[in-house]
Amino acid sequence: MKYIDEFQDPALARRLLDDIARSVTRPWSMMEVCGGQTHSIIRHGIDQLLPENIELIHGPGCPVCVTPLEVIDKALEIASRPGVVFCSFGDMLRVPGSDRDLFRVKSDGGDVRVVYSPMDALRIAQQTPDQQVVFFGVGFETTAPAIAMTAHQAKRLEVRNFSLLVSHVRVPPAIEAIMRSPSCRVQAFLAAGHVCSVMGTLEYPALADTYQVPIVVTGFEPLDILEGIRRAVRQLERGEHRVENAYPRAVRPQGNPVALSVLREVFTTTDRAWRGIGTIPDSGWRLTDAYRDYDAEHRFEVAGLATEESAVCRSGEVLQGLIKPHECAAFGTACTPRTPLGATMVSNEGACAAYYLYRRLATPRTEETASVG
Ligand code: SF4
Repeated sequence: MKYIDEFQDPALARRLLDDIARSVTRPWSMMEVCGGQTHSIIRHGIDQLLPENIELIHGPGCPVCVTPLEVIDKALEIASRPGVVFCSFGDMLRVPGSDRDLFRVKSDGGDVRVVYSPMDALRIAQQTPDQQVVFFGVGFETTAPAIAMTAHQAKRLEVRNFSLLVSHVRVPPAIEAIMRSPSCRVQAFLAAGHVCSVMGTLEYPALADTYQVPIVVTGFEPLDILEGIRRAVRQLERGEHRVENAYPRAVRPQGNPVALSVLREVFTTTDRAWRGIGTIPDSGWRLTDAYRDYDAEHRFEVAGLATEESAVCRSGEVLQGLIKPHECAAFGTACTPRTPLGATMVSNEGACAAYYLYRRLATPRTEETASVG
């Protein structure tokens, strides 16, 4: 494992950019799946350094952004109840629900706590046996193993005042849903390297074959991303559609067997709604029947809440790569990181937050648009 600086080397980046420019002969659109990759691309200006005929489409791989409104409202409802300690990673506290967020619940007297690990929440449960402690389990395949291990430990230690509100999602069904959409413009994918470090790459060849789309497993530093793009362009130019691993320092085809083992014990796949996108079959995880006693939705009976989405937020289109964030009329005006209307402006991995943070406030003027008027 190398240090980060070595994956930000400007001379090597220039060589990769030159290689990409030499090999591209026509326009191509590719999607970086993960919001962490989107932030790296925007932060380092990678999209602006690429040849004009390569478009990077920002994908739905921000777990905070795709957590459905109904689940946020369930979190708000549970966190508001007396006798509940509601624990969450910090980035969920400002995600807007139908009429408030977890910060508002906290300021109204709810016991909402930011934790850095689900095991911290389990410890709180052990220390406060007269309270119901709930952990908000949100994320992709990357965070799921730690949450599965916490459920395993809670059961093993017989901690009965602990439960999980689970809204985990899986990447491969999302790729399939994107490819099946009639408005899909994606011709290649940069798959999320950290997801593949857990899950491996064995789920991807069938997708590449079925949809004839190159899938390149890609890391997060500038050189990682440029190498992923270089390989994707090379496949597209040759008419190939294979799975390639451009992140071998972290990803093995079989993934992480220990993590996979605990995932299979605690979770089973289920249909899951993605905020702004809709329900994607088999795209989530829920607790298995053996862990039903640790399911907060079951324990607190919060089914059937009425929800109300923001009328102006276009995060669903952002998450599907149909518009760029600054094409939303509320971007930077009614919607900012201080006054977010949608989760894509809240999260560290949200595309709207990336465009705001790195001052991508308008569509760059091309020669054609510059000459108008
Ligand atoms: S800028 Fe705000 S309102 Fe517009 S899509 Fe993004 S989060 Fe939604």
